[in-house]
This record gives sequence, structure tokens and C-alpha cells, in this order.
Amino acid sequence: MAGLIKDEDIATVRERARIDEVVSDYVTLRNAGGGSMKGLCPFHDEKSPSFHVTPSRNFYHCFGCEAGGDVIKFVMEIEGLGFSDAVERLADKVGVQLRYTEGAPTGPRRDAGQRSRLIDAHRVAQEFYADQLTTPDAMAARQFLDGRGFDREAAATFGVGFAPRGGEALLRHLRQKGFRDEELVTAGLVAQGRSAYDRFRGRLLWPIRETNGDTIGFGARRIFDDDRIDAKYLNTPDSPIYKKSHVLYGIDLARREIARSSQAVVVEGYTDVMACHLAGIGTAVATCGTAFGEDHGRVLRRLLHDHEEFRGEVIFTFDGDAAGQKAALRAFGGDQQFVSQTYVAVEPDGLDPCDLRLQKGDAAVRDLVARRVPLYRFVLGNVVARYDLDRADGRVDALREAAKLVSSIRDRSKVEAFARELAGMVGLDVEDARREVRRAAARGPEQPRGRRERAGPGSQGAPDQAAPRDPVPDPRDPRFSMERETLKLVVQHPSLVGPSAADVDAADFLHPHYRALWEAVVACGGPAAADDTWGTRLGAALPDPALEQVLSALAVEPLRSSKEADAGYVAAHVFRLQELTAMRRIAELKSRLQRTNPVDDAGDYNRMFGELVALEQHRRTLRDKAVGGG
Ligand code: ZN
Repeated sequence: MAGLIKDEDIATVRERARIDEVVSDYVTLRNAGGGSMKGLCPFHDEKSPSFHVTPSRNFYHCFGCEAGGDVIKFVMEIEGLGFSDAVERLADKVGVQLRYTEGAPTGPRRDAGQRSRLIDAHRVAQEFYADQLTTPDAMAARQFLDGRGFDREAAATFGVGFAPRGGEALLRHLRQKGFRDEELVTAGLVAQGRSAYDRFRGRLLWPIRETNGDTIGFGARRIFDDDRIDAKYLNTPDSPIYKKSHVLYGIDLARREIARSSQAVVVEGYTDVMACHLAGIGTAVATCGTAFGEDHGRVLRRLLHDHEEFRGEVIFTFDGDAAGQKAALRAFGGDQQFVSQTYVAVEPDGLDPCDLRLQKGDAAVRDLVARRVPLYRFVLGNVVARYDLDRADGRVDALREAAKLVSSIRDRSKVEAFARELAGMVGLDVEDARREVRRAAARGPEQPRGRRERAGPGSQGAPDQAAPRDPVPDPRDPRFSMERETLKLVVQHPSLVGPSAADVDAADFLHPHYRALWEAVVACGGPAAADDTWGTRLGAALPDPALEQVLSALAVEPLRSSKEADAGYVAAHVFRLQELTAMRRIAELKSRLQRTNPVDDAGDYNRMFGELVALEQHRRTLRDKAVGGG
């Protein structure tokens, strides 16, 4: 039984352990002026930093939750340790040899607090497993690492190990070191059936560590075909020191770089963390056997020193087809403030960072992270990509669908920025996007629309037109008034229309019935070829009997002008009709230009710009003809 730590040694520890360094294992501190530093409090959840540390006075205090004390108190609080354990922990860290009133303890400190015991057991276990990786039995484990581009040095850096297949090797080793079975069961290292046995057997192991480097659990991968446990990965169960909702694999290595760069990269697996770090992405971490949750977010945020005025970036890498879905879930569930600083890095070929590094090298991994996009933009992009933006109705549908997402963003200050972004993506006015977002907000959350209503990029139905089996067009429908009036002129006064209609095209007619009628006109040689049998010939050329009704209506319906039709009236319709088509094309081209990056796609951009200039000129000519009477 160890005695009490000598008072002068406690004083030495208190003096040597710099509180800012100790706190920095958990919280990123920034200068707060006056010799003080501040960060996000690790003892309560907060959005702006009220946790202050004054190194010269060896003191911390939180103005939010009133937590405070010296460096020993901090370690006691954050690690849940007793006083002596905290002093011992700090003494280890700063290299003070403690003396006790009744002599130094020998062997593992049986009287130490539970937490210390569990952490000690994990340290011993990690060393044991790492040693086992060099044994003949661990051939498969070494081959696994080798096959993924990890050499001996990488394995050592990450403390990778091998759990022997037998089932009692670790248990016996730890018993020998003075640990009791109950402690090992509590730690999750050993499982208890009829007797105690090693939790991990015949697996490749990654030690999962806290920010300060203490091992608190393991992730274990299946490597043998005859492994009786099917799960590819096993993890330490929750224990007094291991909470899967908080732990992040790699955080011990990534912590300083996360603080320095204000960026954290979240990948999906242990090998991805290794690959990223080896490729130069020193901020990579992964969750262990669970999805990234709000507690993980809080851990990162404290390291990012993230608060109102300062936003760090959290980048998620997603691979494979499910990327969009996962991103959408992340975007619209959970902590919205966190979401707005979240980025997505998607590998187009669906490779995870480990495979990416293996196939394309370190630079490809760095590129993947560098090409990150804001999460919202990514999700909006996925929605918008389902529509054909070269078509007017496709743009409107895309806007409507995406506006629902934008309107659901709870951070109202972000909505305007995303409405702008959406307008750019779809190629419509910002005002249109704002209006649609307001409408969506007014409608509130709704059920997702059925597939039928989604005009996907592959659907070929005509855009501004009604469906193919459309009812007869309403004569008063203003959308088609120019088409109808032009056709009336063509049917009733073909000689007057004559050659002025030479450039009219089927594409000038948006309503399918009108378009079909025009095609019949063309089939009959055009208005210039009209004779006494014009009406009869047109009727015979119609592809569908339903159109006869439309033709007869056009033949008898009075013109909208009270005056007699003349060349000016014809020009005002025939050329105006073509001008409308030119205007639609201009709108489409502008929309496409807006969606084209002039730097990345300079060729396309310049070609389209040239087309636009020509179209504008063409439109002006038609305008002049429409107004000037041809
Ligand atoms: Zn606090």
C-alpha cells in the first residue's frame, strides 16, 4: 500500500505542469489578451468561448459554468480522477519522480482510482498486441497492412497490433501484470462467459486513443476466414473510459494540426485515417463503429476553437453512391450550426482515402480534401442535378425542389446566401430563387414528392408544352396567343403571310397541337404554296383527327385585330413569334453561361458567349421586322 505523495512533490508538479499545455490536450486556446487565453469550455456545451486560462497564475475559470481551479483540479475534473491519480498523471507528463510518505509504490498501483487502472490495462494491452504483430501467427495481419500500403513504420506510428487467436493470451498477460479479471471485464478487454476470455481473438487491432494519447479502447478487424464472428469490425464496448459517441480514432495525432489549421477531416475507417496522415492530411479522424454524431462534433469544435466569430471547417469524405444520401442526412438532421461549416469531399471513382492513396498516390488524397465543397452546396447540387437545366421547366422544377431544402435551413442568416447560390446553380434570377424559398417556407415541411412528378434528366417529355395527350388548346391561353394568331393568319390569309413565314420553324410552336398544325403547313408547301384547296389540303395533312377540331376553329375564329389583316399585322405576329423563340434561347444560353465556370471551362464559355452575341443580334433583327412591318 502506497503512502501519501509528499507535499513538496505536489508543489513541484503544480509548478512544472503548465496549465495551458495541459488544457490544450482537450481545448484549443487562443490569446485573449492580458496574459489570458480562452477557448470553448470542456465542461459545458457552449457556442462562444467563456473558458479562460491564465498560465502565469496556473488557473482556469469558466464564466459560463463557473468551473475553475488549478492544473491538478483540471485533470481531476476532465479525467474523472482522484487527487493523487491526477498528481501522478501530471508527474508522468512533466517528469517528476514522486516520493511517498511511506515509500514508493511497487508494481501497478492497486489502490489507484478505477480510471487509472483501466488506462494502465489498456497501455499494457496495446504494448502486448503490438509485440504480437511481429509473431509468425500474425502473418495475415501483416499481409493486410502491406496490401494497403502500410509498412512496419506506419504500423508502429499508429500502434497497430495483433490479437492472438487462442483466446486467453492477453488475459494471462494482464493477470501476470497484476490486473484483476473484474477490472479487465470493466475495461472491455476481456469478456466474461462461463469463464473470462480475450474479447479480441485473431484480429488486427488499432488502439483508440484520447486526445492526450492514452489508449482507451480498440478497433478490431476480421482477417481470418474462419473467424467465428462475422462482423468485419469489432470495437471496445462502452466502458467508464470509452464512450463510442465521443471517441474519434486518430484524434491524438490530429489534435495539434486541427487546432493549427482550423480544419478537421472525418473519414470512415482506421485505414483511411492512416492513409490520410501518411499522405500529409494530419487532421484526419474517424468515428469508431458508429455514425458521426453531435458529441463527436462537440469534441472537434473545442479543438477547432469554433465559435460565433470563428468558424473552423469540418470536412467529411464520402465514397461511393451513397455519398449524396449520407450528406443529405447530415445536412438536414442534427446541429445546424455545425452543418453550416461542414464540407464534403467526394471521390468521383468511389475510392476511400486508403484505396485512393494506394492507386493514385499521396497527392490524390490531398487533392480530394482540397476539392471539398460546402455541404449545402453539395446537397443542393445533387438535387439540381436530377433535372435537365437546359429546359425552362427543368430549371423551374429544380428551383422548386431545391428551395424546399434552402427554406429548411434553420440558420436564417444563411438562407439568403444559399438562395443566391441556388440561383447561380439553376441559372435563374436571384429574385426568383428568393421568391421560391419564401414560398417553400410558407408551405412548411411537406412529404417528398412522388417520382412521377420529378422530371429527371433522362425524361424527354416536351418542356413548356402540355402532355402529349393534351386537351385542345384554350384559345385564350396567353402563353400560346402568338402561336394561335400566327396560325390563324396562315390558315385564313396564306397569301398575305407568304414568304415572310419562310424562317418560321416547328420549334417556334410550344403547344404540341399548334406545332403539329405547323408541320402540316410545311408538309403542304408552306403558306406561299397556298391555293383554293389550302384548307382541305391542310386537313388531309393532319396526323391526328383530334387536330381537325383545332384547324376548324383557327379557320373561323376572328383575328384579334378589329382592322383588316395587312402586312404590318402579319409581320407583328410572324416575326414576333420567332423573336419569342430567340428570347427563350437567349435565356437558356444565359442560364448555361451562369452555370459554366469561365476559367475551368474557358472553351465552352467562350463558344456560348459567341452564340449569345449572335442570338442577341438575331433577336434585334426580328424585333425590327416585327415593328417595321417586315
Ligand atoms: Zn464552462
